[in-house]
Amino acid sequence: MIRMSNPLAEMDGDEMARVLWWMIKEIVITPFVDLRTEYYDLGMENRERTGDRVTHDAARAVRRLGVGVKSATITPNAQRVEEFGLSRMWPSPNATIRSMLDGTVFRQPITFACVKPLIPTWKEPITVARHAYGDIYKGVEMKVPCKGEARLTFKPDPGEVWGGPDGTADAGASMEVHRFGSPGVLLAMHNLDESIAGFAKSCLEYALDQGRDLWFSTKDTISKVYDHNFKDIFLGMYEDSYKGRFADRGISFKYSLIDDMVAQAVKSRGGFIWACKNYDGDVMSDMVAAVYGSLGTMASVLVSPEGHYEYEAAHGTVTRHYRLHLQGGKPPTNPIASLFTWTGGLRRRGELDGTPELSEFADAVEGIAVGLVESGVMTGDLMGISDYRGRPGVTAEEFLVKVRDAYASSV
Ligand code: NAP
Ligand code: MG
Repeated sequence: MIRMSNPLAEMDGDEMARVLWWMIKEIVITPFVDLRTEYYDLGMENRERTGDRVTHDAARAVRRLGVGVKSATITPNAQRVEEFGLSRMWPSPNATIRSMLDGTVFRQPITFACVKPLIPTWKEPITVARHAYGDIYKGVEMKVPCKGEARLTFKPDPGEVWGGPDGTADAGASMEVHRFGSPGVLLAMHNLDESIAGFAKSCLEYALDQGRDLWFSTKDTISKVYDHNFKDIFLGMYEDSYKGRFADRGISFKYSLIDDMVAQAVKSRGGFIWACKNYDGDVMSDMVAAVYGSLGTMASVLVSPEGHYEYEAAHGTVTRHYRLHLQGGKPPTNPIASLFTWTGGLRRRGELDGTPELSEFADAVEGIAVGLVESGVMTGDLMGISDYRGRPGVTAEEFLVKVRDAYASSV
């Protein structure tokens, strides 16, 4: 048995992701590792039961323990409120955790020689770095039911000096958003210079660490204050502190508008880190995952400025597959991203605690999983897009059993 010196923060989830979570623990992890976790059940029912306190407790546990692993969770919408009889439309646990850790999410496809990306020029994986704070994920919204005026207002706290546009008044600022002549909708969002700087720093450091080019995109021509602020902070930090180090490392940094960057990315050979604002990163990481194969093979890690790591899969709770599973069917759910969530967390725990056996276990399991796929053993989602297409796929459980058996016979 491989021992753990310190626990991980473990966050359980919903639906098919929860099913995979327990399969992985029981089949691949606990036979070999004396698993120590602080368990937080972020399943929809328990979030309702605890008034979502469990999500906040879990995020604090990641900060305290330094490492967390999270399963996918339902972000409730109106339909989920009805389905689970929720007292509130609880916020997205991921958004809560991201904002409490104020980190950057790095999502990278797990690649296999036998699965060619749908974009044939992409020879190397693209890592999407998603800013994990603010924007629409912390937005406040309202329905506008009638005619009226919407204003955006900022009021400085007492004693603060408003160095606003004219530099004199300290009463703050207020501007018209829109004069509504008919019903509509309204949204306000924000971000923080400190968070943007933390995002820029994580991305610049990660690029240096990985030795890969860094791309950054916003829409500053349209959003001349909001997005421009991202651009100024990011480019300022690069110019001031990273330009020379990038040159020494032989990597480059470039900035472009998001729409232009999408076009450039599609035509690229891959192999770069793409720093995206929160929403852009949400969308682009799913696009990149789809090009490389399945959402089920997209790994993800949230890194806080203090160096706390939270591992997760990029996919959701795979509701469609869960319905099939409940009916006794065999959904083609790929367990690899969830498996890499666990191995990522265990490897990091091993690095932090100085227990290399744990990190070696993680490396070995990942190597076995990739090797199995490359030898033709995989779930249906990958089979259909691999060089082995036409062969039958295995179930998640069958795949995990093969991982376990291969590991057991290797030690
Ligand atoms: P999803 O769970 O990611 O699934 C979308 C589709 O992607 C699936 O129907 C499936 O395609 C494919 N897919 C995803 N993971 C897969 C896997 N492991 N193996 C094989 N195929 C996979 O997204 P969703 O259906 O839009 O969202 C379902 C729920 O998840 C929602 O309640 C949402 O709030 C939540 N969600 C949570 C997170 C998170 O916690 N990180 C992220 C996203 C969504 P096919 O149906 O074509 O097989
Ligand atoms: Mg998403």
